[in-house]
Amino acid sequence: MNISKEWIKRGEDVITRTYGRYPLVPVRGEGCWLWDADGNKYLDFLAGVAVNNLGHCHPKVVAALQQQAEKLLHCSNFYHIPQQIELAELLTANSFADQAFFCNSGAEANEAAIKLARKYSFEQHGPERYEVITALASFHGRTIGAISATGQEKVRVGFEPVVPGFNYVPFGDLDALEKAISPRVCAVLLEPVQGEGGVNVPPEGYLHAVRQLCDRYNLLLIYDEVQVGCGRTGTLFAYQHDHVEPDIMTLAKALAGGPPIGAMLARKQVAASFGPGSHGSTFGGNPLMAAAGVAAMKVLLEEKVLDNCFAMGSYLHLKLSEMQERYPFIRQVRGRGLMLGMELDREGGDIVVAAMDKGLLINCTVGNVLRFVPPLIVTRNEIDQAVEILDSIFKQL
Ligand SMILES: *Cc1c(COP(=O)(O)O)cnc(C)c1O
Repeated sequence: MNISKEWIKRGEDVITRTYGRYPLVPVRGEGCWLWDADGNKYLDFLAGVAVNNLGHCHPKVVAALQQQAEKLLHCSNFYHIPQQIELAELLTANSFADQAFFCNSGAEANEAAIKLARKYSFEQHGPERYEVITALASFHGRTIGAISATGQEKVRVGFEPVVPGFNYVPFGDLDALEKAISPRVCAVLLEPVQGEGGVNVPPEGYLHAVRQLCDRYNLLLIYDEVQVGCGRTGTLFAYQHDHVEPDIMTLAKALAGGPPIGAMLARKQVAASFGPGSHGSTFGGNPLMAAAGVAAMKVLLEEKVLDNCFAMGSYLHLKLSEMQERYPFIRQVRGRGLMLGMELDREGGDIVVAAMDKGLLINCTVGNVLRFVPPLIVTRNEIDQAVEILDSIFKQL
């Protein structure tokens, strides 16, 4: 019997259709590989959308979860949580930030960042200064606040009215950003490299110039590193490529090596605008997820994962660029580290399905950009296998 088909059929009745799901039922993962309910094996170059940066079921993350699960699963943030403190120490010691607030997802981390920016501005400049400038083609999550911040019309349609106080400018366009600055603006929120919007790398010097504008007009600079943070681009945080620090930064996806977690990091002087009662989360930074976060961060910092990401990122970029020379329907290969996009002159959905049938998992953003975000522990041999599968599909187009 086909077990996957059975699950897919059962799911159709009881799971709300918020995703257009592929007919695949993963039940086990190890490193860069996934197995489905019928025992088929897949090379996973989607990695749970840049969540499984350390590969599936990294033994140190699994051990941390097992050990913590036997001691304490949850306790309230009314108390002090050692694992949360340890994770905050690791994050602040390795970034611009002084303090961390923990939550459960990327959208929640951005909610916290937007609230903090408004509160800080309220205290410094009064109630008239609350607008946040974000980028077109950005993605910041699915809550009402996060879709309000997201510069894509399609995520807001049908959900209006959204939260007022957001203003969108083309990503990478400095003049447009400066024109959008008014006395009502309190912050600029950007992904250092856009993920869902098509793997868009800003022009050289853009973040630096944005920082200068923020300083000139007294605005907070917020980075959404939910996707690009935690090693994805070859540095621990993507902003470290440009050496341009923000005032607030959000993390989630890969932070705990798989389990759900989110974090908002900030400079002490900014974080001070939050006090007891101003924000919170029941589950945020609970002992179980924080223990996984500590284990994942230590692997990332201590085991040359970033070096591998850098080297394998260059290798995959090279291999994809070589294909661009052979196949005229490939417009551009771009990205940073192991966050790569291949823009096509056509829709990429069928290629994703064909790749899945041949045992390779990738996805497609904005209709025509194939996205490659394998685990950062990927090997040269695994990249060769992935490229071979892609090549066999491209040959037939
Ligand atoms: C995935 C993503 C989010 C949303 O994260 P969730 O955990 O799904 O809420 C926000 N920002 C960016 C840049 C993302 O890639």
